[in-house]
Amino acid sequence: MAELTLNSPVRYLNSVGEKRAQTLANMGIFTVKDLLYHFPRAYQHRGKINLLCNAYDGEVGAFVLTVASQPHTATLKGRMTMTKFSAVDESGKCNITFFNQNYVSKIFNVGDSFRFWGKIQRKANMISMASPAFEPWFEDKPLPDFYPIYPLSGNLTQKYMAKIISGAINILEKNGIGDILPQKLVNEHSIISAKGALKAIHNPQSYAMLESARKRFMWEELYTFALAISMSKQKNREAHAPIFQKTDLSEFYSVFPFSPTNAQRRVIEETQRDMTDKKGIGMSRLICGDVGSGKTLCAAAAMYMAVKNGYQAALMAPTEILATQHYNDLGVIFAKLGIRCELLCGSSTAAQKRVIKNGLKKGEINCIIGTHALLTKDVEFSNPGLIITDEQHRFGVMQRACLGDKGKGAHILVMSATPIPRTLALIMYGDLDLSYIDEMPPGRKKVSTFTVDESYRQRMNGFIEKQAAEGRQTYIVCPAIEAEEDEGLVGMDFEPEKEKALQKLKNATGYADNLQKLMPDLRISLMHGKMKAKEKDEVMQSFARGEIDVLVSTTVIEVGVNVPNATLMIVENAERFGLSQLHQLRGRVGRGQYKSWCILVSDAKGQNAVSRLKVMTETNDGLEIAKRDLELRGPGDFMPDREGVARQSGGFEFKVASLCDNTADLESAFEYALDTLKSDPRLQKPENYAVKRVVEGYFGIISNAVN
Ligand code: ADP
Ligand code: MG
Repeated sequence: MAELTLNSPVRYLNSVGEKRAQTLANMGIFTVKDLLYHFPRAYQHRGKINLLCNAYDGEVGAFVLTVASQPHTATLKGRMTMTKFSAVDESGKCNITFFNQNYVSKIFNVGDSFRFWGKIQRKANMISMASPAFEPWFEDKPLPDFYPIYPLSGNLTQKYMAKIISGAINILEKNGIGDILPQKLVNEHSIISAKGALKAIHNPQSYAMLESARKRFMWEELYTFALAISMSKQKNREAHAPIFQKTDLSEFYSVFPFSPTNAQRRVIEETQRDMTDKKGIGMSRLICGDVGSGKTLCAAAAMYMAVKNGYQAALMAPTEILATQHYNDLGVIFAKLGIRCELLCGSSTAAQKRVIKNGLKKGEINCIIGTHALLTKDVEFSNPGLIITDEQHRFGVMQRACLGDKGKGAHILVMSATPIPRTLALIMYGDLDLSYIDEMPPGRKKVSTFTVDESYRQRMNGFIEKQAAEGRQTYIVCPAIEAEEDEGLVGMDFEPEKEKALQKLKNATGYADNLQKLMPDLRISLMHGKMKAKEKDEVMQSFARGEIDVLVSTTVIEVGVNVPNATLMIVENAERFGLSQLHQLRGRVGRGQYKSWCILVSDAKGQNAVSRLKVMTETNDGLEIAKRDLELRGPGDFMPDREGVARQSGGFEFKVASLCDNTADLESAFEYALDTLKSDPRLQKPENYAVKRVVEGYFGIISNAVN
């Protein structure tokens, strides 16, 4: 057989059969190199040797023990056997047992020493360990300090992963590996070789080695990420977008029952300037504006300009509910302006889809509003001029790149409901120009916000009933969908009460049931991310029509839905949510003429949780909240969410780097990336071949996910 290389399929490695190759493929491991980049999620620190006398019951650790009695095997009930012996260190004695592993009696001889790794059991004065891991111990032959623990899948075991990875490392030893980092970066940051780092991350000889390895991979991630974003930006800049004529907006403004705020006018000006720019670079702009600041009007104005210039415009929302709402709002406006606007969603019927696709292709439809269904290959525009995505933070950078492809040089406008602090926006949306809507439409009422604990429950329930009696509606948001669910949590708190809190987590399903029992006369409904888009849509529509008094939900209601009659927002386990997310949720109420409230329920006593929730009661300014959130929690909340579309569509995750800890490094990674692209804009030089493949992989994730 031909020599294996890093690009060989894992299937050709020893011990990898078809079945396991499939399991590995499901984990995203296809080649030997992928396997090398399958990093341990943790390490057993076996180099830290404990003394028996110090070990507490249940402690897992390493012990160097000398065998003190010859192993004895007994047959237990059935065909089970137990092999037992004692071993000692200077501080005490331990009974060690193995089950159904008779062969161990040949391994353990009195007087030999081993390093054991296992869980200590203490009963009375007896110390014991069952089936510990063990390695022969010689004073002059040190063992590795760290043992890797890999993420597993299917019936793969740690032992198996370690074995095939060591096979991959042999191939690495023979073949070496090219460096994807530029030499300058490597020199300036004293980064160890790729080969050395790969060996060290799988078998670190010391903590310092592990750190050096992690540092390399952090830079690899940041640098390739920066390259991908910069290339996407470059692509936007190259795309020859149509140059629009300046459009008279007075007819457009005349169909609204209000006049635009100064901030809206300014942002609309900025988009007009981009799209009429004579250089033809086109618009790539992000509009940041707080909930309710009136981004939709700005989007509509841009669409109007595109249509008046003879082009088509598309508006894409992350959920069907939102797309429908946009369609309901804007359809009316555009109808008054004589512009044909249609809605295209996953749940549109085949016949509807056919008609709409046809109309788009022929240019009979001016404006299209939809979900990511707009990204499918068979949606073709006759003359695309503008592509808008709403609530951008749910889409992710890579998906946007894909959308850019679809527009083939159309103007790009992105709207984010989370006001992202400028520094972070520069990084996350480095390929976009920024506009802030920093002024609210007049007459907006402040939502009164309170934090309460469990003792307030009864009064709160009374308040819910009071709202309903007055004809108003309530949202209740829970962090979990069902009981005992601990996945899909909205961000983890770094606090000791985490474990406890996990058990007490309110789940929407149980909550709705209980509340219905408590308030049999109220119309209570449930909505969460596991429901089909159509079901969610029905619940939401019904809530909007006022047929539901209380909507118990997960964060699926977070983005954008407008129900002016809703006056009370209750968030359970509020400590679980990011501030920006809470602000977003609070923005669901106070949208009409009625006084509105937001109640944050939390029993968390941790300093961080308390001070975070306090911010919510102190300010209503979304940008201010976002800044505080970034300080207190890092940028996690600004990244694509776990629930909803972003999850399947290539929400991008770093394995080693963290945007929170490495913000400064990321900025510098962008500089290195720009340097590289200056001399090789399409990464066509041989030395950039390897990194090009990685960058293309980023774009690949996303186009696979949406097509
Ligand atoms: P968001 O920025 O959250 O998307 P919307 O565009 O949905 O905000 O606007 C929120 C509400 O404010 C809508 O009901 C909209 O009609 C209204 N609105 C927008 N602009 C103005 C304005 N200039 N004056 C008064 N009301 C406005
Ligand atoms: Mg909106």
